Amino acid sequence: MGQIVLLDQNMINMIAAGEVIERPASVVKELMENSIDAGATRIAVSIEDGGRRLISVSDNGRGMDAEDLGRALEPHTTSKIKTNSDLRAISTLGFRGEALASIASIAQVRAVSRPKDSTEANCIEIDCGDKRDVTPCSADYGTTIQIRDLFYKLPARRKFLRTANTEMTHIVEQFIRIALGSHFAVNHKNEALETEPFSNEHGLDMTLTHNGRELYRLVGRQTLHERIAKLFPIFSADMSEDFIETESSEKGLHIHALLGKPSVSRTNSKFQYVFLNGRYIRDKFISHAIKEAYRGILEPDRFPVAFLFLRMPYQDYDVNVHPTKIEVRFYNANLIHSQILGCLRERLLGTDLQTRAKLPPTTPALASKGATAAGHRSSEIADAMAEFFKKHKPVQTQQQFAPAQRKHRDATSFPAGHGTERHAHCAVPQIGAAEAKFLQIHNSFIVEQTDDGFVIIDQHALHERILYENLSRRISAGSLESQKLLIPESFELTEAQADVLNTNAELIEKLGIELVPFGPKTMAIQAFPPLLAGAAPVDFVQDLTDLLSDKGPGLDTKGLLDEVLNMAACKAAIKAGQKLSDSEIEQLLVDRQRTELTSRCPHGRPTTIRFSMSDLEKQFKRT
Ligand code: ADP
Ligand code: MG
Repeated sequence: MGQIVLLDQNMINMIAAGEVIERPASVVKELMENSIDAGATRIAVSIEDGGRRLISVSDNGRGMDAEDLGRALEPHTTSKIKTNSDLRAISTLGFRGEALASIASIAQVRAVSRPKDSTEANCIEIDCGDKRDVTPCSADYGTTIQIRDLFYKLPARRKFLRTANTEMTHIVEQFIRIALGSHFAVNHKNEALETEPFSNEHGLDMTLTHNGRELYRLVGRQTLHERIAKLFPIFSADMSEDFIETESSEKGLHIHALLGKPSVSRTNSKFQYVFLNGRYIRDKFISHAIKEAYRGILEPDRFPVAFLFLRMPYQDYDVNVHPTKIEVRFYNANLIHSQILGCLRERLLGTDLQTRAKLPPTTPALASKGATAAGHRSSEIADAMAEFFKKHKPVQTQQQFAPAQRKHRDATSFPAGHGTERHAHCAVPQIGAAEAKFLQIHNSFIVEQTDDGFVIIDQHALHERILYENLSRRISAGSLESQKLLIPESFELTEAQADVLNTNAELIEKLGIELVPFGPKTMAIQAFPPLLAGAAPVDFVQDLTDLLSDKGPGLDTKGLLDEVLNMAACKAAIKAGQKLSDSEIEQLLVDRQRTELTSRCPHGRPTTIRFSMSDLEKQFKRT
């Protein structure tokens, strides 16, 4: 008995600090947020030894008088909310009144502040919760908070700190988030949120210094594009090369998005930045919407780069759900999801995302000799092509010829390789008909002249995309047209496989495939869709059975249908290594015009790489 005691305040603060302050970067975040909430237009962050020795944040915000300064470091003290109703519409970055007290319980803190309208500055020092009196001092207006020796009385926590470089990486990340989030008016009045357009020139002057070396200097009068280019040197300084931009405002949600083109996609989602009213947030609905928006535009294992700036009324979401305020709860998450998805998807689908070729830089030697000799030119082109083929391997490299007998023909299904047209090793590229401006190379790619240069098309990927779109359109309108086979094709199957086919009978019928039992363990294909003529019926049905048994149980109807159509398009499409006649190439190019979104195959790989005349002219030093 008598085991339960009331913790003293410093213990309570230390426990709170455990939630909020994970590492030096968390301190930087909290202090910078306070500066922004104080209306600062200039913030200087100075770090020593990855934040272990010193974190100093200095601003020109509204400052605090002696009384407020004494209070600011107490637990549960804040100037940002007062009543219950304030909690339902939080317009500031902070509101919990915990950060300064938590930090002061685990480090040595010195805070100096002078309000804008006062000539007096004051200072307070705290050493791990041990607070001294507020004393007058001299200082410019604004606030400077210095944190020394973070966690020095908590060896267990200090031990978890990584090298200065690693801690600096985390600090830089926080700095970047604040630099981008604050670029848009954080202190917008709630009423204005829906109507006021984004100001593109509303940034803070910000610097970040480590051990006396300046890492970032951002000036306030910078456009968003300039700021992103400065923060992320990996992107081209000309943002339009790597990004497309879109904006929409509907039902109280304003979206401004910079969407990375597929060429700048990444292997993780680190380069997805979502800001809600200036606050960096992580949200699974929004991440999902971004992913969905790029469906079919990026390979499934790639992540798009995206900067999303959202504005909506503060009362439409709750920030009071996570100690570090990185998560919010939307009252209408479905609406947010569908609006973001709609806005992004529409922009992405409406954009020509053809991959632009990156030609290797020209060698100075070649330039000095004057690149006039035709030999040089062709060797340069050959180099460029070689480079291109190295980077963009054909989707499928095996030589595959379709079954000998072809029974059907459809606008988008080629008789793949007639017996008479087989040239397994066609050394001389086939030149198109007199007026046609294309040729097939390596039986896998089509080079087509365009108005401003030429494109290289991956024949399999493009045809796959065309088939996929065609299949989806027809399936959503009903079912695929079916055609009786002259001779039914039979195949053997296990009981489990027969079960799978039975369970999915409706889907199979929709695909225009007619199956009839043909013996105890045998099934016969009686009819098959002409649209899939590029695939061998038995082969197709067997793969379909495998797919249905592997993925069927885990997917909803829509997801499963999509998988099936993907597979169907892939199997029925022209293969890499397949020789095409002029008329077949022409048909492919005509079908491309009729189909939307042909710059990527259904798996998101590029179908077409574009070389512009200006690229070529630059390479040949003509400009
Ligand atoms: P919160 O930000 O949640 O209110 P903090 O512990 O971070 O809580 O800060 C407590 C209070 O101290 C703030 O509400 C604010 O009034 C004041 N304050 C903190 N930092 C600054 C600053 N840089 N400039 C002016 N006032 C500040
Ligand atoms: Mg705060």
